[in-house]
Amino acid sequence: MSSRAEDGERRTTGAAGELPELTQQELLRYSRHLILPNVELDGQRRLKAARALVVGAGGLGSPVALYLAAAGVGTLGLVDFDDVDVTNLQRQVLHGTKDVGRPKLMSARERIHDINPYVNVELHDTRLTSANAFQIMREYDLVVDGTDNFATRYLTNDACVILGKPNVYGSIFRFEGQASVFATANGPCYRCLFPEPPPPGLVPSCAEGGVLGVLPGMIGTIQAAEALKLVLRAGDTLIGRLLLVNALTMEFRTVKLRKDPDCPACGTRVIRELIDYDEYCGMPGGQANDDRNGVAEITPRELAERLHAGADIDVIDVREPGEWAIAHLPHARLIPLGQLAGSMAKLDSARELVVMCRSGQRSAAAVQQLQAAGFRKVKNLAGGILRWSDEVDPSLPKY
Ligand SMILES: [Zn+2]
Repeated sequence: MSSRAEDGERRTTGAAGELPELTQQELLRYSRHLILPNVELDGQRRLKAARALVVGAGGLGSPVALYLAAAGVGTLGLVDFDDVDVTNLQRQVLHGTKDVGRPKLMSARERIHDINPYVNVELHDTRLTSANAFQIMREYDLVVDGTDNFATRYLTNDACVILGKPNVYGSIFRFEGQASVFATANGPCYRCLFPEPPPPGLVPSCAEGGVLGVLPGMIGTIQAAEALKLVLRAGDTLIGRLLLVNALTMEFRTVKLRKDPDCPACGTRVIRELIDYDEYCGMPGGQANDDRNGVAEITPRELAERLHAGADIDVIDVREPGEWAIAHLPHARLIPLGQLAGSMAKLDSARELVVMCRSGQRSAAAVQQLQAAGFRKVKNLAGGILRWSDEVDPSLPKY
């Protein structure tokens, strides 16, 4: 094999000797890499030796896993616990229409092996938690954060800092995205930027805020590029820089990030153990609605019966106008969550109030706001309009 002489030659120059050989089929497959400065044969062997963990097989995880696999990263770990839902297909290109209802890990593995059968895919069929994060991450060289919620994002960051693994970060919301590389030896971490998670309920999830289908593709491919560069030790990565992308204006900006000496994770290192924050964001509807934080609830069936019986209930829908246009309850009126504080003076605190949204998460936050403002007779519609559609009126479209 023609590569052998070259291997021997490189081995004499140092570290490459530990790296796996490429087969003839691999040499052919990766030929556009092998002729590329900064990759070449040694780089491709580095990629083959690399072990990358992708947290989340969703919008960001899809392009990350597809491109890392295609590029020849030898071992890809995937962490996910979800099944493919038809609403995922607008952006989660790892999965297809035929996969709806199947575990994401199954469709992901099939798709990855179709792209590159030489990739060793390791599946972690679980939600990442403080109990398993170290054990899972320990086995990998780097972690790519494809999560869609703050709980897992902080967990991923802290675990990466403590284990000393680079955290290739990306996040998306509506038309905007961010990317960086955190938790390297001298670089900042996510907590240097945002020391603590936002209060529960304040931040809408992807399901509630929406996301442009192509945006996770844009940010995920940037994460994949950063992961490849880390493995190849090539170029300038986003260590110490935060890339901000606005797909609506198509503006890309980078801001400098400094390692914060007071950062509880990578600075003072007071965070030595992992924390499971409340999963208040990015969770599918219905899962986070169990009378949390003292928010009283009413089920859709109960509300329907009471309204039918003529009860005087002010039903306030805190979703956005675009969501209202898709479907709303005949008895409800629209006050988007952002306008609630300014509208409180017009609400009658003597009347019974029921607050609703899509899945019951934003409305739970609204109930807390109202309670804090002195409203006593206020309840959250459990499961939101999605559950209303399931249990009361199936003619209401779900979204
Ligand atoms: Zn930090």
